[in-house]
Amino acid sequence: SSRRRGRYLQNSAARRGLNRSPGIIRGAGSEMYRDKGCGEPRAEDTGHTVTVAGWVNRRRDHGSLIFVDLRDRTGLLQVVFNAKVSEEAHELASSLRSEWVVQVTGTISARLAGAENPELPTGDVELVATGLTVLNPARTPPFEVSDEPPADEYTRLQHRFIDLRRRPMQENLRLRHRVTKLIWDYLDDRDFTQVETPILLKSTPEGARDYIVPSRMHPGAFYALPQSPQQLKQMLMVSGVERYFQIAHCFRDEALRADRQPEHTQLDLEMSFVEADDVMSLVEGLFAHVAREATSGREVAEPFARLTYAEALDRFGTDKPDLRFGLELGTLTDAAAASGFGVFKSAADSGGVVRGFSAPGCGGYTRRQTDGLIDIARSSGAQGLVTIALAEGLSSLEGLRMEDVRSAIASHVSVDTVKEFARLTGAGPGDLILIVAGREKMVNTTLSILRNEMGSRLELPDPDVLHFAFVTEYPLFEWDEDLGKWEPTHHVFSSPRLEDVPLLDSDPGKVLGQLFDLVCNGWELGSGSIRIHRRDVQEKVFGVIGYTGDEVEQRFGHLLRAFEYGAPPHGGMGLGLDRFVAILAGAASIREVIAFPKTQSATDPLFDAPAAVSPEQLAELHIRVTEE
Ligand code: ASP
Repeated sequence: SSRRRGRYLQNSAARRGLNRSPGIIRGAGSEMYRDKGCGEPRAEDTGHTVTVAGWVNRRRDHGSLIFVDLRDRTGLLQVVFNAKVSEEAHELASSLRSEWVVQVTGTISARLAGAENPELPTGDVELVATGLTVLNPARTPPFEVSDEPPADEYTRLQHRFIDLRRRPMQENLRLRHRVTKLIWDYLDDRDFTQVETPILLKSTPEGARDYIVPSRMHPGAFYALPQSPQQLKQMLMVSGVERYFQIAHCFRDEALRADRQPEHTQLDLEMSFVEADDVMSLVEGLFAHVAREATSGREVAEPFARLTYAEALDRFGTDKPDLRFGLELGTLTDAAAASGFGVFKSAADSGGVVRGFSAPGCGGYTRRQTDGLIDIARSSGAQGLVTIALAEGLSSLEGLRMEDVRSAIASHVSVDTVKEFARLTGAGPGDLILIVAGREKMVNTTLSILRNEMGSRLELPDPDVLHFAFVTEYPLFEWDEDLGKWEPTHHVFSSPRLEDVPLLDSDPGKVLGQLFDLVCNGWELGSGSIRIHRRDVQEKVFGVIGYTGDEVEQRFGHLLRAFEYGAPPHGGMGLGLDRFVAILAGAASIREVIAFPKTQSATDPLFDAPAAVSPEQLAELHIRVTEE
């Protein structure tokens, strides 16, 4: 290694210069095993002797010439073992297999004319090997380390240490790192203090089930892992921190989806002496900045759109609309009720709605294509879906005749009804109208799913655009059909609009909250609110939700007491870091941007978690496991 150190000292000055110049990838640098990263050599390095180290990405054996693509985090380098250059190295190279870890010394040489690889930053050169050291052989990997992931996600998670070697995953980890650093710097510049809050604590309800941890020292008592640091950051406001943030782990035992994990990471922030607009502008500045700096070429639509909850549902059927495209919904209830079609009439008569939208240019859809849409509607809870195809070729809908209309309900409705539906959904000749009838919530949900489906079939969303929006003016409470009681839309700590406080007693369903969500490209990125900072208002809200005095004292007594000692007005947000990075990475699931995520059934196949523990551990925790 003194030989290696000598070379390092010789080259270090030059290398440091290289590392500092902007725009050049920071190399493997000053390490004992290598003096360049595999991805670094260029034509101007020709003639230099270098040592590199990495993994065998691929080996091609042409007899007296063996080619190895060597990989480290900086990229790929073609290494040539030529029996005429070094018989010994060539001999050893014939034993190399994928993913072996090796160190190679050699001379950077220009590739033969015509043999360059323009796909590779190092593609003009190759390393002609004079020496080879096998640092560690490897078993045959269960899948190839390539840009394409293996089809089976379970296999990927079981061998995550190999999966993470793949370039897109390395890039996702780097992106996440960059995003986190940008957040830190941005908030630090604006006088925010990062404070860590405990993981072992007491239930902090955010609408999910708690993960709980038994206490050894207090038999029968349990800690709960935080669903979010909500109450802690509110305490910090009472403590005078004024501007807090944390990249916080949040634990929620709930049904998992592509955008949900048992533990997720949140950018959690809270500010004192602010109103909703102050929090939203801070978050807007931060997210626009991070999105621009962390990616190249993504366009951030600014200023962020603002729409009320009611408007979002009316126009898009959802409070997390993808605003990169139109396909807005229309309400057809009145025209539909008068149409004579039974399904529509009974939906309207029973207090439901008939709504729909137009998919431009889809009037030629085949039976199979519309059946596919009907399946989507059914699986999201609708009884069915009515499609109306308008023939193309007409210059306008003025002269529309029934023979220009293709629909299962064609014999039940008049041409004037069809024209009215077309007007209300903005449909024209050649378009397909999609209509759903029934209870408003189900209709909106179904249509929002169909809207996204048609958007992606028609390739309407521009993948390079990030369309953020704040959704505001949510109702403070939602009626829970199953429980037969009011539940908080967001969480119990969010403040009603001041003018609505009197309604807490008389008509809770009408109370609007000082709530706001941030959405982007159809994903909910986070929610926040101005909080209640007075004990009397907080107790009123607990009352609406139906907590008794004892429950309140037991679950929230600490917070109410804090409020009595000088709590400033405050508000903040919790923003999903995994989701934000997934959007920036263009990933379909947050699992792509989490180093060690869990499966859809909340397991870790690599560590085989969760797992049984020893009887001794259980005894110590005063726990007896009962049979299922
Ligand atoms: N604690 C909330 C959540 O996790 C966010 C917030 O209100 O700040 O959704």
